[in-house]
Amino acid sequence: MFRYLLWAVLAFSLVRLVSRLLMPRRAPAPPPPTAAEPGVLVQDPVCGTFVDRSRALVAKDRMGEMRYFCSEACRQKSR
Ligand SMILES: [Zn+2]
Repeated sequence: MFRYLLWAVLAFSLVRLVSRLLMPRRAPAPPPPTAAEPGVLVQDPVCGTFVDRSRALVAKDRMGEMRYFCSEACRQKSR
């Protein structure tokens, strides 16, 4: 009986340890909204992802129009 209790305590502490490792107490804080353009979403023409315009990579296409990309990889693909 005592042995089962010991295993239960061991298992419980192990679960707590694992869950603490998987879920750190401090979640990354969301970036503060920019005052200029709060929450403006633009679509990446390569992969279709919507990106915050203040954080998107910008490039001009051949027609001189501004295009927004989620990553450098997508910007390279568009060329
Ligand atoms: Zn993309």
